[in-house]
Amino acid sequence: MPQQRILLSSPHMGGTEKKYVQEAFSTNWIAPLGKNVDMFEEQIMEFTGAKAACALASGTGGIHLALDLLKVGHGDMVLCSSLTFVASANPILYHGAQPVFIDSEMDSWNMCPKALEKALKYYKMQGKEAKAVIVVNLYGQSARMDEIGEICSRYDVPIIEDAAESLGAIYKGRMSGTFGKFGIFSFNGNKIITTSGGGMIISNDGPMIERALKKATQSKEAATHYQHESVGYNYRLSNVCAGIGRGQMEVLEERIMKKREIFEKYVEGLRDVDGITFMPEIEGSYHTRWLSTMLIDPLRAGVNAGELIEHLDENNIESRPVWKPLHMQPLFAGSAFFSTDEDNAAYLFEHGICLPSDTKMMEADIDRVITAVRERLLARELFA
Ligand SMILES: *Cc1c(COP(=O)(O)O)cnc(C)c1O
Repeated sequence: MPQQRILLSSPHMGGTEKKYVQEAFSTNWIAPLGKNVDMFEEQIMEFTGAKAACALASGTGGIHLALDLLKVGHGDMVLCSSLTFVASANPILYHGAQPVFIDSEMDSWNMCPKALEKALKYYKMQGKEAKAVIVVNLYGQSARMDEIGEICSRYDVPIIEDAAESLGAIYKGRMSGTFGKFGIFSFNGNKIITTSGGGMIISNDGPMIERALKKATQSKEAATHYQHESVGYNYRLSNVCAGIGRGQMEVLEERIMKKREIFEKYVEGLRDVDGITFMPEIEGSYHTRWLSTMLIDPLRAGVNAGELIEHLDENNIESRPVWKPLHMQPLFAGSAFFSTDEDNAAYLFEHGICLPSDTKMMEADIDRVITAVRERLLARELFA
């Protein structure tokens, strides 16, 4: 019998989700909206400290709305972290705007403040201005939002914080997602909590979130007939899905603790193995370790990231490379890319691995992963 597959990150229900979904059924608030949506938004506001929130059908939709509210249009320039999932930048294309990608720094893996400043300076000298900066908080860790915020306010450009992967992360005492003009969360199936699919846009600007809500409901005007004066979308979260979110919020902190514990176990179990470097937790940062990630130095480890991923797969363990940088994607061919270093994003992609970080993993599962990694790195002559 082959051992059961260990997954990267799969949905993990807490138990009360069904109760809230049942509530939606028994009150027939299947749609539209309803109490679960309101309560879920309340929970996110309370948890993050944001003044306003609007639940959405996806995180991608949240970024699309944020760009819309910042009046990003055809030909405008939007700066974005390069090392991220495509969803961070796809909405730039929805608006016909021009993405400009910014490199990562090696210590946080997130947007390099120096490279960001270099790009803003470069365009300023040409008399061009960025309309927005999308800063991604990768794998559960905030970017250096103090430095990035300071640079953006000097250049007077608003920040959209793509916190899809960093719900619950803290940076210098503040919750991830609350640094930008807008913060975006995702509740897609593999995220730290899930609604089976969904997202949220938050802000301290209440009227802006009112406008987001309107835009997310086809920009319907306050009239009994159907009156529309601007373009809108159908982006709201269903009351059934929000019920799942309510239950998930009750176990969020538990999930973060477990994710961090999984990471600690990997560090402990692989401490003596040469050629492995884990993603750092920068000073002042509380990393949720949504995914446990590490770099493999092939010269010291004797294997490369791809070979390790393959070996894990043969042992029925799911692992992944780190995101392929967007400036390397054919979709964005021709887009500008700013770096102050080597291409760090490309380096992280080439050498990075995301290890299983599923909160349903047992001690023995984590040990299985550690054993498989050790086997491949320490007994490499067996695989020559
Ligand atoms: C998951 C994710 C998104 C998109 O969220 P969806 O809810 O799937 O639309 C955006 N950005 C990043 C970095 C993500 O990981």
